[in-house]
Amino acid sequence: MATFKSLGLNSQLLHSIEKLGFETPTEVQVKVIPLLLDSSTDLIALAQTGTGKTAAFGFPLLQLINTKSKNTQGLILSPTRELCLQITNDLSVYAQNQKNINIVAIYGGANISEQAKKIKRGSQIIVATPGRLKDMIKRKFVNISNIKYCVLDEADEMLNMGFYEDIKDILKSTPREKNSWLFSATMPSEVGFIAKKFMSSPKEVTIGKINTSSKNIVHQYYVVSRNERYSALRTVISLNKDIFGCVFCRTKIDTQKVSEKLINDGYKAAAIHGDLSQNQRDSVMQSFRKKKIQLLIATDVAARGIDVDDITHIINYRLPDEIETYTHRSGRTGRAGKQGISIIFATKSEEKKIRLIEKKLNINVPRQEMPSYEVILNNKIDTWIDEIIKTSINSNLKRYLPGVIKSFKNIDKELLIELMLSKEFKKYDLDLHVKNSDDQANNKKINTNNNDRFFINIGARDQYDWHTLKDFLLSYLKIEKNDIFQVEVMKNFSFFSIKKIHTALVLKSFENLLMNNRKVSVELTKKSKSFSFTSSQKKKKNIKKRRFK
Ligand code: AMP
Repeated sequence: MATFKSLGLNSQLLHSIEKLGFETPTEVQVKVIPLLLDSSTDLIALAQTGTGKTAAFGFPLLQLINTKSKNTQGLILSPTRELCLQITNDLSVYAQNQKNINIVAIYGGANISEQAKKIKRGSQIIVATPGRLKDMIKRKFVNISNIKYCVLDEADEMLNMGFYEDIKDILKSTPREKNSWLFSATMPSEVGFIAKKFMSSPKEVTIGKINTSSKNIVHQYYVVSRNERYSALRTVISLNKDIFGCVFCRTKIDTQKVSEKLINDGYKAAAIHGDLSQNQRDSVMQSFRKKKIQLLIATDVAARGIDVDDITHIINYRLPDEIETYTHRSGRTGRAGKQGISIIFATKSEEKKIRLIEKKLNINVPRQEMPSYEVILNNKIDTWIDEIIKTSINSNLKRYLPGVIKSFKNIDKELLIELMLSKEFKKYDLDLHVKNSDDQANNKKINTNNNDRFFINIGARDQYDWHTLKDFLLSYLKIEKNDIFQVEVMKNFSFFSIKKIHTALVLKSFENLLMNNRKVSVELTKKSKSFSFTSSQKKKKNIKKRRFK
């Protein structure tokens, strides 16, 4: 088995590696390091994020740099500021035992003259984002005309982000005889074009299969209807209480909405998208890195270059158009040998796209069923028990204890536990399989043969939620609690299901009822096969409702 020593790395680097705790080189490191150290060559390495590619080019680059000269010898281009800082940081750690080596990061959104000053002091290695570098070359703050090594990291992402022209211009300012090392997770035609135009007979190294996701990632999908995505997200989160995840949306508005809802529901979430200023994005990313935020809700562009280890879940709130984007998204998890899960929420019609992803990426994406309401509740109860057991005793409350114990003296332990449980979970009603509106995604299908479903023209505008509307219907119709279920309240109207034996009663009972000066109207819905109604049904009802006003 290869060791870092057998790859030809010098003692300073070996010392840093030992300190870092890297025990064995990864596949990309085994394949790339000797190649770059032994020969003066151009290289195309197809490797995913998380495979250890930064060290694969970083170690040889640090070893090959001439520290006696202060001239810029190595240039690393990266798609985003985050990745640029990450690479700079990684290289500085790797170079901790090397004297006289300066690595400078240059990226947009920060003070340009500060960066120029650092370059002027001498920087053998520059790590840069393309836009800022081009600007600094134009202003003659940077001289890359004598570089010996040029690394294009995440080349596909740089091209995805529209840096093609910038990269071409930058490469034109570099000498022909340099060595170019290109790293990319995928091989779109533009990457091939850059390679053809700017590299000479590059050696090629492929880690895993091109375009495949890392094997540490488990992929799965849930079929959800359009309006069930958020409930599905909450279910996934509640089943994975230690989740540290990234939720991908397609639009800024969606990221904002989802994160607001999550925050409202008590989760530590934040959105990152193009409308945030660089400073705002930085502070969100910093909170995420420090795990002050548990869920980062992101658009694809804003999330490029997110290089945070330990992400446990990627959630594709909406599927991207491009399969490559799916690769980038899921590549944010399953890093550094850890296991990750990439979850897709897809509508029935998007299942075709999932089959295509499976085929193109040569992966399995099995369908998962949303767990039953019972499983979710069980899980919540387990968490509740766990939290109670782990609670640290607050000694300030000790003096109240005798009084409290006295108050509960006549209640036996089992009943007390039952009371606590009922209080904590009072909104959950397993018999009816009905939950509050946020959890509707988990409603079980009910045998509709014995039931009828009704539309009623009262709703949230009349200050009802599903609970209070159910109470009203029960008392008004004077029927058994279990004979009415699946109450769903919209703004202007609601639905409820009822045992068929009461159908005539329902149709008759509301004939003369007025509410808020409106005649209450109840209608049988078309025989719905399942509990959920379609959006077109909702729209129709909305139109009808307007006539009621
Ligand atoms: P990268 O693909 O460069 O983004 O690396 C992903 C993660 O793997 C980083 O956190 C590195 O610190 C870590 N890493 C790189 N090489 C090794 C190694 N040989 N053993 C263990 N971890 C590594």
